[in-house]
Amino acid sequence: MMTDLPGIVVTGASGRMGQMLIRMIGDSDKMQLTGALERPGHDWIGRDVGEAMGGAAAGVLVEDDPLEAFARAQAVVDFTSPAATVEFAGLAAQARAVHVIGTTGLAPEDLEAIKHAAHHAVIVRAGNMSLGVNLLVQLTKRVAAALDEEFDIEVVEAHHNRKVDAPSGTALMLGEAAAEGRGVSLEDVSDRGRDGITGARKKGDIGFSAIRGGDVVGEHDVIFAGPGERLVLRHLASDRSLFARGALRAALWGQDKTPGEYDMIDVLGLND
Ligand code: NAP
Repeated sequence: MMTDLPGIVVTGASGRMGQMLIRMIGDSDKMQLTGALERPGHDWIGRDVGEAMGGAAAGVLVEDDPLEAFARAQAVVDFTSPAATVEFAGLAAQARAVHVIGTTGLAPEDLEAIKHAAHHAVIVRAGNMSLGVNLLVQLTKRVAAALDEEFDIEVVEAHHNRKVDAPSGTALMLGEAAAEGRGVSLEDVSDRGRDGITGARKKGDIGFSAIRGGDVVGEHDVIFAGPGERLVLRHLASDRSLFARGALRAALWGQDKTPGEYDMIDVLGLND
């Protein structure tokens, strides 16, 4: 039933995050599901999304026309793929709907297109929507600023065996935070994919390693390895619902904001 509550469209409705979001919106008294999107030809198109998920009817049919769905909604919550997210950013801006982007693996040209769309609408984008990780980002920045290059910084992450991108969006956020703390650009110091005779570690580099296996939801360590001591900042995610909760909080937070690109540090009020 349509009410005055902010309407939310979930893209990638059949995905792991999509289904989690749809369940959470169904349980919420602060928002309502007004659309569920899948790509054209998907076998869920035309079916009630609640029933397609194996539960009770949700009163929303899965559709494949993003612009029509976005025009009826106040926010689009999007955990899909880079190509889909870039397309959705333009359409959500056209519909003046808040676009919450959880998709990771975005290339520099994707980020450029998203930045362009943010001239016209509110976009909240974060490689990780959890409170703990966003706190970890702030801590990483501070620790990196406090320690000099005698401390080697390494970001180590573990995820489930179906994740398609590496390093994770969260690992990159943490690397960016460490680089910012040190006053350098991550691009200049990033060390990824070591293999073979790599030579000794270069002072000042920020290294990344990725572990893939099983059903690990997401684990991140930021290691500061210095002479005679090692500091490890760690976040362990045990339930994907925390990402969905953060994304829905961002969808509501964005309702009264001026157009622009924001992140979860803004949503959670963690700015220094
Ligand atoms: P998933 O289970 O593979 O779900 C992705 C969904 O998006 C699938 O239903 C897929 O449909 C759909 N999709 C892809 N391209 C589409 C298009 N062009 N139009 C409509 N739907 C499309 O993946 P997931 O685990 O939910 O993760 C999705 C993304 O969110 C990944 O980038 C992941 O890294 C990221 N993520 C971010 C956070 C965070 O906190 N920021 C947390 C968890 C995950 P098909 O099956 O038909 O391709």
